[in-house]
Amino acid sequence: MSDHVLVINAGSSSLKYSLIHAGSGEAAADGLIERIGESESHQKHRGPDGETESSDPIASHEDALRAALDAFEKHGPSLDDLELAAVGHRVVHGGSKFSAPVLIDDALVAEVTELVPLAPLHNPANLEGIKVARRLFPDLPQVAVFDTAFHQTLPPHAYTYAVPAEWLEEHGIRRYGFHGTSHSFVAEQAAQRLNRELADVNLIVLHLGNGCSASAVQGGRSVETSMGMTPLEGLVMGTRSGDLDPAIHGHLARELGWSIDEIDKALNAKSGLKGLAGENDFRELSRRRDAGDEKAQLAFDVYCHRIKKYVGAYYAVLGTVDAIVFTAGVGQHSADVRSAALQGLERLGIRLDPVRNADPAEDGVVSTGDSDVAVLVIPTNEEWEIARQAVALVDQREE
Ligand code: AMP
Repeated sequence: MSDHVLVINAGSSSLKYSLIHAGSGEAAADGLIERIGESESHQKHRGPDGETESSDPIASHEDALRAALDAFEKHGPSLDDLELAAVGHRVVHGGSKFSAPVLIDDALVAEVTELVPLAPLHNPANLEGIKVARRLFPDLPQVAVFDTAFHQTLPPHAYTYAVPAEWLEEHGIRRYGFHGTSHSFVAEQAAQRLNRELADVNLIVLHLGNGCSASAVQGGRSVETSMGMTPLEGLVMGTRSGDLDPAIHGHLARELGWSIDEIDKALNAKSGLKGLAGENDFRELSRRRDAGDEKAQLAFDVYCHRIKKYVGAYYAVLGTVDAIVFTAGVGQHSADVRSAALQGLERLGIRLDPVRNADPAEDGVVSTGDSDVAVLVIPTNEEWEIARQAVALVDQREE
């Protein structure tokens, strides 16, 4: 059997897939189907022949996966020739139950279904992807990799909210944390770049993409993270507010007569950079900021200030920090964000090298040679991590 895994990330109206070699991380193909169920869908497939696109209507997730399989057949690579080892599924919420990847069977589907109230926007779509893939690949092992799993090592004092104790016991209300696959992948890569054992290093990981989250990783274990019961808490994001006074919800309901759903939507889809400057794409926001746009500047300042607050807080949680790691679209590409977020922290032993930061070299080190805390830029690769975890689980089962 080969070590190729078809990694599937199903959203409410989209299906993203990658064909990854678990050993090397090389993507033999990937693709995205968007606007499922709308009159015009959009399909993109990148394989050995380059990229192909189409806009035929695709009615359901099942049709989307069938369209992806057609694309593999027409444009390659041939899934039959590659003999897939497994299908790996990104599942957003694993609750308190899942701290590791799990082989999917009917019982697992039922358990993920029970978690839907904790992630009403994400888990139903992930489940749809699982059901469809099980129908189309009945003989392949299918593995669920949870976004929350890596953060299951948080100690009780970090995951417990100061609310009536029965809320946790009866309703599962606690911090779970997300982006765990990315934080875990990047932490391991950081230890390698530092030439240290993961068990011996303390890291602050900053995943800054459309969604943003920070984590404190002590000896390879997540001990604090900024996202909470849902992916709304913490850093400022593209369209999500991150932290805010919880009394604002009541105020909006009482003063403006907003429903819970309206408030939820405003905080998840109309806030963050988009709420502040009308723009959630960081590249466009940067262009506007460079041109002197005041709203874009304020959005940038709020965004970076929040990151700095978390760096300070997680420094205190960890006691000593070996490296701060920036990853995901903004973290990897915005020298300005790295510089503004870490400015003035020299007394904490954090010294950014402006030349390295402007154009990070292959090793990703952007701190000065004498900085006590290394600052690293490391590309994340959640699909590879899902493929690795899926193959490791399948191999373990076969031993
Ligand atoms: P991700 O969720 O990791 O794909 O990150 C998406 C975010 O990264 C978007 O806000 C992009 O605008 C931003 N991004 C991607 N490339 C760049 C770049 N070169 N400079 C600044 N931001 C970028």
